[in-house]
Amino acid sequence: MRSRGSWKIRIFIGLAIVAFAFIQRCNNKEENPYTGRVQNINMSADQEIAIGLQSAPEMAQQHGGLYPDERMQALIDAVGKKLVNNSIARETPYQYDFHLLADDRTINAFALPGGQCFITYALFKQLNESQLAGVLGHEIGHVIGRHSAERIADSSFWQTLTMGATVGADMGGVVQGIGQNTLLTNGRGDELESDELGVLLMIQSGYDPYQMIEVMKILKAAAGPNRAPEFQSTHPDPENRIQKIKEAIIKYQGR
Ligand SMILES: [Zn+2]
Repeated sequence: MRSRGSWKIRIFIGLAIVAFAFIQRCNNKEENPYTGRVQNINMSADQEIAIGLQSAPEMAQQHGGLYPDERMQALIDAVGKKLVNNSIARETPYQYDFHLLADDRTINAFALPGGQCFITYALFKQLNESQLAGVLGHEIGHVIGRHSAERIADSSFWQTLTMGATVGADMGGVVQGIGQNTLLTNGRGDELESDELGVLLMIQSGYDPYQMIEVMKILKAAAGPNRAPEFQSTHPDPENRIQKIKEAIIKYQGR
């Protein structure tokens, strides 16, 4: 049994923590100069680059290491470089590196904060050069969009908020639920923003942006009836993405 006094103190401390979390969050707001979107970020570009470089070897190892054929790697380097040097990516402070992973069973590509981008051989072997540019453009989009940094800032915000709510009242579970939903929603938004940036990068670098739609079809076919969960969990429905990609092509190319 708790006395009324301690209950009041718990609420007070809880509200103070929640207020602190909100103030901290508001102070972290900054406009992304490449997307125009106001984001909640609590790290510098240099820190993003450091985190990416530090995590890259482990990420490679988790996917069976790097693909041994240097000619394939050279092709990825060339396409990546073409995208970076001819687009808004050139103006960003990030260090872009493109890695071909040996994994020939998992269809996947991802980016670490600061510019380290990865594609598995399983996905790579299904793509022509323009489609490869689409995938790499999408991954560069995650870097430019600062999605990892945003999620890190969001998760520490939700952790603080959850802590405050748990101290104040027995609402921890509820707030945690909101937090997770928010993270997932951001994740889907991230994918759509990266698709749009990918389309922009393709157009700026002279690639046919409609090949991004072909990438979506390849991903959809790869997801298949049996292999859905892995991809669907973090990525929006390919049909939805195709619609948004068409809108982005019209926006940037005018046709
Ligand atoms: Zn993505």
